[in-house]
Amino acid sequence: MSQTQVDATALFCRLLERAKPEINGQALRLGADAVAAKLLLHERVLVHGALLDWVTCPECGVQTARVVQDKSKETIALLCPECGDVEGPRPLRETYKVALQKFVVSLLNGLGFSLNGMKPIVPDLIWRLGTTEAKRGKAVTWYFARRLLRPEVASRLREQINLDQSAQSCVILTSSETPLPAGSALTEFDVRPLFTVGRVGQNTFEFFQNRQADPGPQILDEAVPGTTLRYVRDQGKVFIEGAEYLLDPTQKNILVALIDDHDHEMGNDAIKTSCGSQAQRFSPSKAFDKNEATQRVYRTFVIFQRGDERYRLIIPENDHDWLR
Ligand SMILES: [Zn+2]
Repeated sequence: MSQTQVDATALFCRLLERAKPEINGQALRLGADAVAAKLLLHERVLVHGALLDWVTCPECGVQTARVVQDKSKETIALLCPECGDVEGPRPLRETYKVALQKFVVSLLNGLGFSLNGMKPIVPDLIWRLGTTEAKRGKAVTWYFARRLLRPEVASRLREQINLDQSAQSCVILTSSETPLPAGSALTEFDVRPLFTVGRVGQNTFEFFQNRQADPGPQILDEAVPGTTLRYVRDQGKVFIEGAEYLLDPTQKNILVALIDDHDHEMGNDAIKTSCGSQAQRFSPSKAFDKNEATQRVYRTFVIFQRGDERYRLIIPENDHDWLR
């Protein structure tokens, strides 16, 4: 973990805290953060934004000058109402923005979560990353939010936590600095600033293992699971009467889609879309029709309702604490 990575993550958090997570190329590439910025560009969590046609004149620093043309890779020609023809550095007209969706995916990768289980709550502001099992079967719900210092954002996330009934067990990752101001709707929660839990990386946010509670499920040593869907998402397997059944990726995706669906009932097309399947003739029963074991998994956890042509998840009693 280099100092540059530390600086880059701090810079990244500052950008995420802006109303629009964008920055001018001049400030980014030629300022004090130039080295950190270079790493963010290299990791592609920062990408090119629009080129500006009007910029503050570099000569007088007051007037707004029009960009006449790019003179070279590093220089542009400008026309200032006061100074006339002037030259300036090209980064002056460049902008960079945070690749928000890509960054959220990198967080999911860092936590070992699937995209299927993620839900944007407020576009570009609040995300529910997923729910995992921690110790003793207690589900933990993970959120990521920008701009939590703003009371209305904190309140919106608090509302969502109420809706999700996750107040007793949630972790909130944020680009904001903590502690949150007194009176914030989130003061009593486990809020973790990104730069204290890990580092920005290209495809994966690299969580520090020693400072991060293990986000994955923990199988209890003392008990063999009976019949449960608990390990589908993170380990790609189910248990039926204590026996372990491994799922292939499609089978896993089908079960995750039904688990995540609000009433655990879906039509064939919705499941197919959710799984990202390209198969010509897709159906859940076909996906499980490989051998006796997979057929048993299907019969145990999925029922096809002929009347309305929908597939319904059969939730085992063991899972009623986290899935209903
Ligand atoms: Zn000027």
